[in-house]
Amino acid sequence: MVMEADPFMLIEGMTIAGLAVGATQGYIYLRSEYPIAHQILNEALAKAEAANLLGENIQGSGKTFHLEVRLGAGAYICGEETSLLESLEGKRGLVRAKPPLPAIVGLFGQPTIVNNVLSLAAVPYILAEGAKAYADYGMGRSLGTLPFQLAGNIKRGGLVELAFGLTLRELLEDFGGGTFSGRPMRAVQVGGPLGAYLPESQWDTPLDYESFAAVSAVLGHGGVVAFDDTVDMSQQARFAMEFCVVESCGKCTPCRIGSTRGVEVIDRIVNDENREDNLELLNDLCDTMIDGSLCAMGGMTPFPVKSVINHFPEDLHKPVTEDMAS
Ligand code: SF4
Repeated sequence: MVMEADPFMLIEGMTIAGLAVGATQGYIYLRSEYPIAHQILNEALAKAEAANLLGENIQGSGKTFHLEVRLGAGAYICGEETSLLESLEGKRGLVRAKPPLPAIVGLFGQPTIVNNVLSLAAVPYILAEGAKAYADYGMGRSLGTLPFQLAGNIKRGGLVELAFGLTLRELLEDFGGGTFSGRPMRAVQVGGPLGAYLPESQWDTPLDYESFAAVSAVLGHGGVVAFDDTVDMSQQARFAMEFCVVESCGKCTPCRIGSTRGVEVIDRIVNDENREDNLELLNDLCDTMIDGSLCAMGGMTPFPVKSVINHFPEDLHKPVTEDMAS
């Protein structure tokens, strides 16, 4: 939305960030699935260059900053900063071991800062209005605003930009209007496909990073997906492992192999094959992935799985129907 509706906010934020760290070259890494954003960004960059707001000797300041868009093929893992750098260098999006941090050895071996669009787009406002004006939004250590994306089984889906601190229930009811189906809401996944599923008992949690961490959940990029009472949470747990199988970069064993074994173990649980033993195995596997994965992909896949084990255990203990047995 930022890139398509107000690309100059991002260009200005990146230029300020570049000048602040002494960088002369910036890259916007964009997934190829966003051709409209690509076109609008390129037009905005051309206009900024023509107005000497980018390029050599910006506005006679003696400062130089070049900015270009690079397209990625759409791998989820290329949102992780080091595989993003690999992809920018024209290689497969494989996660790099840290240290060294990208700030020391980053793109093409140069010191590099990597930030998301929302952080960089917030910079012009902070510089224009002052840090206090920005900090007036939000609560605790979560300051400013976040655009929440309401999706799934929700009456009024879409993007709502709010200051941190509202409760999840207020977001779901006041802005989302409840489920689209009109049936009772049962589970809400927050923070993207690797976010935990929250049961109703947790919906009064304030939408800020610290409060979510306290209930073993993540706010992430603010994605919120609602499910009504027809959802089968065992299949949602399976989906998390399946997603990891598809999107894992394959560098480390707990994620690459663990996710495949995770799908198999969940299938055995659902089919009532040594259910108790396999539940214990699934818990162990989740702990191994959390502790042993190189990056957040493998480290966070267990979040949705564990939330199903802890908050929706009845869906893993369902009697086997004839359909399932076959
Ligand atoms: S956790 Fe997964 S995505 Fe991350 S480095 Fe290991 S294999 Fe790659």
